[in-house]
Amino acid sequence: MNSPTKSFFAAHALLPDGWRTNVLLQWNDAGTLVAVTPDVRDVPADAMHAAGPVVPGMPNLHSHAFQRAMAGLTEYRANPADSFWSWRELMYRFASRITPDTLGAIARWLYVEMLKAGYTSVCEFHYVHHAADGKRHANPAELAQRVVDAASETGIGMTMLPVLYQYSGFNAQPPRDDQRRFINTAEQFLDLLSALRRARPEHGALRYGVAPHSLRAVSEASLRAVIEGLDALSPGAPVHIHVAEQTAEVDACVAALGARPVQWLLDHFDVSARWCVVHATHVDAKETRALATSGAIAGLCLTTEANLGDGIFPAMDYLDARGAFGIGSDSHIGVDWRAELRLLEYGQRLLRRERNVLASPRTAQVADRLFHGALEGGARATGRAVGALERGARADWIVLDAAHPDIAEKTSDKWLSSVIFCEHGETPVRDVVVGGERVVHDRRHRDEARHYADYRNALAQLLADA
Ligand code: ZN
Repeated sequence: MNSPTKSFFAAHALLPDGWRTNVLLQWNDAGTLVAVTPDVRDVPADAMHAAGPVVPGMPNLHSHAFQRAMAGLTEYRANPADSFWSWRELMYRFASRITPDTLGAIARWLYVEMLKAGYTSVCEFHYVHHAADGKRHANPAELAQRVVDAASETGIGMTMLPVLYQYSGFNAQPPRDDQRRFINTAEQFLDLLSALRRARPEHGALRYGVAPHSLRAVSEASLRAVIEGLDALSPGAPVHIHVAEQTAEVDACVAALGARPVQWLLDHFDVSARWCVVHATHVDAKETRALATSGAIAGLCLTTEANLGDGIFPAMDYLDARGAFGIGSDSHIGVDWRAELRLLEYGQRLLRRERNVLASPRTAQVADRLFHGALEGGARATGRAVGALERGARADWIVLDAAHPDIAEKTSDKWLSSVIFCEHGETPVRDVVVGGERVVHDRRHRDEARHYADYRNALAQLLADA
């Protein structure tokens, strides 16, 4: 490796084979790890030193950035049967007020929050494409581009997944007025993706994929067309889709297509490891096994699914069948991978009235199994080389606070359990490095004040218009 390397020394670091001591992490100018060496004796004089244990940064595999600004605004009973669908009405009303500037400001602040939490990559499932009246912007990718720019300005790695949205329901029901900002034909969609890739080409911290919104919002032919179009640009790039979030959607799918959504998808498409099936909450036993076998990633968004009353994914059966999963903060009612993983286990505990349900014979500590699983599946969903401290991966990591009350005085085998299951005020995430750049230092993002001021202005504007 000719390019100059930088180095970082950690007394303790979580490598693919477990906790190791005296680890030297070295990376190049492109932000890629070129060497990860445990048990080093001679630390380079210019190496930075970690203030605590180092773990890989967590990928966030599902985000709708604009929804960050409506967190906390829908926690009241709007009608006698408040549900996902009545929340969606409010969300659409909010989406109708978003402008390119407010979207950029919201996304920048959201990514600051993600970085401070230790998310070092995000998959953005971006569907607000057009102006409020449905007219296309001069640059059809204007809004998506603002989100891509928010990622590069704040320093988070991004997989941008523009959304294809065509219909308001199964059997090609025409879109509603309040969905017109989302709508494209498959052809328009591929033009938008190409324009975006030209304006903001891929690099180590940016990748593109596609997100057909859901089986109710796209046709089978369009789904095929956008995957083929994507393969012409970037073979094997990620495909993300919402599936089986709500029972009403499952019933409508059975009525329209003759099968449950996950089953239908598995029967009609070559669902493989490039697919991220977001939610997959309502799967029967057969679908659970088949989805696990397919290699697809189940995109679990626990705090949002709890907030929207979606239901509980059969995590124990799915993990027993060796299914891959990752986690996402989706509507951003909270932005904390620790809370997502905790709730993944707690849902099962409450359901089964047992403890440590998601442990396995090989990994008795639930936190260890969930952390490693979410890194691996989340990384695959990004389509980027992230999620592990190893040569060839991005130099993305979290430095935990060695002096935090939940970490201090404990041995390394208890650190993940304490970090994930304990919640005692201040976060244990102290510093965050992405692509070799320290973007969070002592719990502060490098541009936190500026991005927060912009966010407040954007929020004030959006709420004033309400
Ligand atoms: Zn979503």
